[in-house]
Amino acid sequence: MNPLTKTIFGTILVLLSMGVQALSNTGRVPILLYHSWMLADNSGECTSYAKNAHVALQSDLETIRNQGFVVVPVYWIAQWAIGDLDGSALPEKVVGITFDDGFDLDWIDNTTGMAAHPCYGQLNSLRTVLQQFKTTYSATLPWYSPHASNFVIGSPTARSQINPGGMMADSWWTSANASGIMEIYNHSGDHDHDSITSPFYEQGTWFPAGGQSQGNFFGINQFCRINSRWEAYTDIYLSANYISGKISPAWADLFAYPFGHVPPYVRDTYFQNYWSEHQTYAAFSTELATPGPYLPNYTRRASNRYSLPRLTYQSSWNSPAGLINILNAASSATPPISGSAVDWCAGYVDF
Ligand SMILES: [Zn+2]
Repeated sequence: MNPLTKTIFGTILVLLSMGVQALSNTGRVPILLYHSWMLADNSGECTSYAKNAHVALQSDLETIRNQGFVVVPVYWIAQWAIGDLDGSALPEKVVGITFDDGFDLDWIDNTTGMAAHPCYGQLNSLRTVLQQFKTTYSATLPWYSPHASNFVIGSPTARSQINPGGMMADSWWTSANASGIMEIYNHSGDHDHDSITSPFYEQGTWFPAGGQSQGNFFGINQFCRINSRWEAYTDIYLSANYISGKISPAWADLFAYPFGHVPPYVRDTYFQNYWSEHQTYAAFSTELATPGPYLPNYTRRASNRYSLPRLTYQSSWNSPAGLINILNAASSATPPISGSAVDWCAGYVDF
């Protein structure tokens, strides 16, 4: 988070906290995840809620408002979960919104220098969806809402291989981070994406990070294999450093694990012991239990700060009714389903 913004937020939060119903410190907060590339190409599905993330986000903002929730910056939710921010500084019912992977459609409408898509037409970026909602409800929304945190991939070479069409540019990160409606954070250097089929040298080292120590020099969609200091340095610190070069003086101090894979080494050793290197305040996974309104899928003060759960559009919910179930379970109208957390990397054996 931008240091200046953080100071201003803090001052206003104190003022807001007076006489307003607050988030319980034993509460549950849903953090939602959208991917702007989730778009169907089939006629009849292109503009459906279930198949188009942009349509879903537009609808979900209305649902969130109708259910009495407020979208707040995810950084504040992390501060609350960690215990650095008291619930009295936040509204009673809050939701976080995140985007992963940093596709251009997060920020740039496809009417800007792009041909209208033959199926879904002139698509609004997720940014425009947020801004239009903000304009529509400007009389009643708090100044900070809505807001999204966007986790982007640091390495330019990795991005060019994951999307050879050049739709993962970093030219808009500076504007986005300064916009007040979106902030840019870290989603690793290379995502261990299997589109990376050969090693490449960048930022003074070799990628993909996970492949170098194993001798298979390509991505395998397996972030669980990031299990050494060198791999974590390459995929987390160097990525944060590259991203921060675009958003300075801010530092990309939130991290989202690719595929929601949380390597125990990264969570319990690297993040805990090498703060002066990575300077990562909190990290986010995806569903920790069966997708949907299960207790482990809500961020709470009991959550591990380096494995805060999120709920993912299309897997955790895929209709307005599904989102209402998730919100109801956060606000106690219908308690969440108890269940144990799943550690996706528990059975992973490095090779
Ligand atoms: Zn991703």
